[in-house]
Amino acid sequence: MSSTPSTNRRSFLARGAAIAAVPALATVAGGVLAEPAAADTLPDYAPIPPSALGPALNAQGYHVGRVEKNLYWVTDGTYQAAFLTTKDGVVLFDAPPTIGRNLQRAIDQIASENGVSNKVTHIVYSHHHADHLGASSLFGRDVVRVGHAETKRLLARDNDRARPAPDVTFETRRTLHVGGERIDLAWHGTNHTPDNIYIHLPAHETLMLVDINLPGWVPFHSFNLNEDVPGSIAAPAKAMAYPWKHYIGGHMGRLGNRQDMVVYQQYVDDLVENVKKALVTVDPTPFFVKYGNNTWAAVKSYQDAQADYAAAPVIKKYTGVLAAADVYTTSTAFIILESIRLDLGVDSQVHP
Ligand SMILES: [Zn+2]
Repeated sequence: MSSTPSTNRRSFLARGAAIAAVPALATVAGGVLAEPAAADTLPDYAPIPPSALGPALNAQGYHVGRVEKNLYWVTDGTYQAAFLTTKDGVVLFDAPPTIGRNLQRAIDQIASENGVSNKVTHIVYSHHHADHLGASSLFGRDVVRVGHAETKRLLARDNDRARPAPDVTFETRRTLHVGGERIDLAWHGTNHTPDNIYIHLPAHETLMLVDINLPGWVPFHSFNLNEDVPGSIAAPAKAMAYPWKHYIGGHMGRLGNRQDMVVYQQYVDDLVENVKKALVTVDPTPFFVKYGNNTWAAVKSYQDAQADYAAAPVIKKYTGVLAAADVYTTSTAFIILESIRLDLGVDSQVHP
């Protein structure tokens, strides 16, 4: 976030808090109160490659830019939304709370520059997560919200007034026609969540698929907090089957392209390959000898060693290529390891 001159401490903290709850000053760790963090004692990480960063933010803390023709994207450096201006109003794609009221500011700016309506008439939901939809209620009730049927079920469960349920839902495919523009929505199976959809704008050569590939960066903690690892591993190929040039991943400071997807697929393939090696290479014996009847201590330290073994060569290969490879690759390796064990049954041994 060093590229954003407007970043101040408050907005920085607000952004961090939106991704993951920041622990209170002191947290209970191992039964004792841990010391509060001090910046000068925190670990160092590899520098962020310039290719991961996007345009500078304006004084209000956002950037709005053209994707293609009348399709625009908005970012606060960490989250992304998009909008399409049409002769009948604006279609908004996601409403991250961190961007919040800057969504309408960005729309107002583009609408006044181009002499088109600034009225949001539709909001398309990528998936139910609050960090991508929590500003939806700012647009009131007089908006048609569109999303997957499972998004509607999950939002009914979550009962969050900030995220009104979609009015229009679909199960597998739905094409929206608004003001002469075409938007193809599709569900191709579960991935990051059960309800995450593919949003394709064929005339704008753009695909929006959120929380799968975060262009320029490795996935967030634990493979973007994955709910279906095989589904997420399969998602990039499904995305690549569409014709598009521009990719909106929902995160970080820049748009993506097809080469970003190729690099991301290779990163995941490399992790899978190294996890499979770790499963047959790391010897469990010392962990069980050391921890005796504390089975969880033995299992945890053994699996940590497997995740470290799998992640190490991948961190080395992608440092300087994908931002924060040294921050989150090990947690993603762990989730992929568990999926390879539990979903695929690799290393599963039946007692003789
Ligand atoms: Zn999500």
